[in-house]
Amino acid sequence: MSARYDLIVVGAGPCGIAVGAAAKRAGLSCVLFDRGCITNSLVDYPYYMTFFSTAIMLEVGDVPFTIPESKPTRRQALAYYRRVVEHWDLDVRQYEEVSSVEGADGAFVVTTRTADGGEHVHGAAAVVMATGGFQEPNYLGVPGEDLPKVRHYYHEPYPYHDQDVLVVGAGNSAVESALEMYRNGARVTLVHFLDTIDRGVKPWVVPDIENRLERGEIAVYWYHRVNEIRPASVVLRSDRDGSATEIDNDFVVAMTGWRADHAPLAVLGVGIDERTEIPAYDPATMETNVPGLYIAGVIAAGHDANKIFIENGREHGGLIVADRIAKIR
Ligand SMILES: Cc1cc2nc3c(=O)[nH]c(=O)nc-3n(C[C@H](O)[C@H](O)[C@H](O)COP(=O)(O)OP(=O)(O)OC[C@H]3O[C@@H](n4cnc5c(N)ncnc54)[C@H](O)[C@@H]3O)c2cc1C
Repeated sequence: MSARYDLIVVGAGPCGIAVGAAAKRAGLSCVLFDRGCITNSLVDYPYYMTFFSTAIMLEVGDVPFTIPESKPTRRQALAYYRRVVEHWDLDVRQYEEVSSVEGADGAFVVTTRTADGGEHVHGAAAVVMATGGFQEPNYLGVPGEDLPKVRHYYHEPYPYHDQDVLVVGAGNSAVESALEMYRNGARVTLVHFLDTIDRGVKPWVVPDIENRLERGEIAVYWYHRVNEIRPASVVLRSDRDGSATEIDNDFVVAMTGWRADHAPLAVLGVGIDERTEIPAYDPATMETNVPGLYIAGVIAAGHDANKIFIENGREHGGLIVADRIAKIR
């Protein structure tokens, strides 16, 4: 075993970093592992996105997030969280995936794999799973979804110029990608199983998408689902009368959300609610039903990732560290 820590944090997203900063401030020894880079999830977000939160609401570890605008862009947030890591001199091991967690309170054994294939074993009194909810897309589960033209992550509009694009969903990601692609010369169609855009869509974006839909500049199929994806078309099915409609299609951008991988928690004996997929934990301490095993960030939200985000997930670090300190004393 290479070392033994008070705390091992799995995942160096904004909420994992908040745990690291809280631990450092309290004098706990702590290491963070990420299978990608620092804030790996944000790297995969739409390149030109602006957060809906103001910069101050995204601050972690009491490091000021100072920008001239109220809401930061993805690039500003990436630079900011790196700065937090530097400020607290956090020990973040990038490109080192946690492959297993075993043991019990006071004596956890965490195995990691580095990019060169090497396996490493680390000890910790407690473990925090901060692995986020951006790992697995919510698949449509229809024939043709494995075609290369189907995207579950959207980055930028340029590949879609002069193309027939079907956007699946009606949340923020669907609406913003549809508008961006429309403005960059794609022929965009939206499909959604309800009859309106989601209530959570950023209020300042709503008039824009509603006007585009009303004027037919972006086509829409309400009360429809994707039934099959073919190389040059898609088949949509009406939820109302079951009728099928085939439309021309070059790309499918499926903005149906993503889900956390709870398997590593379940293996350790953490209860996962069957309906909500929320792990069993105490919200006052973030400790799961397995003593010494904590969760931080969006992983605590179950399948409804809109309940916990950076704004409130950043508080988890303080709760966890306070609980560890209380237990040590
Ligand atoms: C387009 C978009 C816009 C958003 N805008 C906002 C906003 O304005 N305001 C807001 O508060 N929230 C916003 N969110 C949500 C917010 O980004 C997430 O809630 C936040 O990233 C969650 O942080 P986290 O640290 O819990 O998880 P993540 O940021 O997902 O970090 C988890 C980390 O764990 C790592 N990991 C996973 N498994 C392993 C493993 N086995 N070993 C090692 N590392 C592992 C991943 O690589 C990743 O870096 C937005 C989300 C999206 C998609």
